[in-house]
Amino acid sequence: MDKGNLNIGCTVTECRHHAKTLNNCTLTHIEVVKHKAKATCLECTDCGSFEKDE
Ligand code: SF4
Repeated sequence: MDKGNLNIGCTVTECRHHAKTLNNCTLTHIEVVKHKAKATCLECTDCGSFEKDE
């Protein structure tokens, strides 16, 4: 059972990198990105390593 990377919690189960069994990412490193030149809210940021699950 892959518990993923316990240092990266994530609830995006639609991502192919999600551990599924626990709310964690299986990657050792992720890139967090922003959508505006200056991030001013939670919605301005996202996981740039997201890839749609099959
Ligand atoms: S790559 Fe990003 S969105 Fe996908 S499981 Fe990891 S942290 Fe979540």
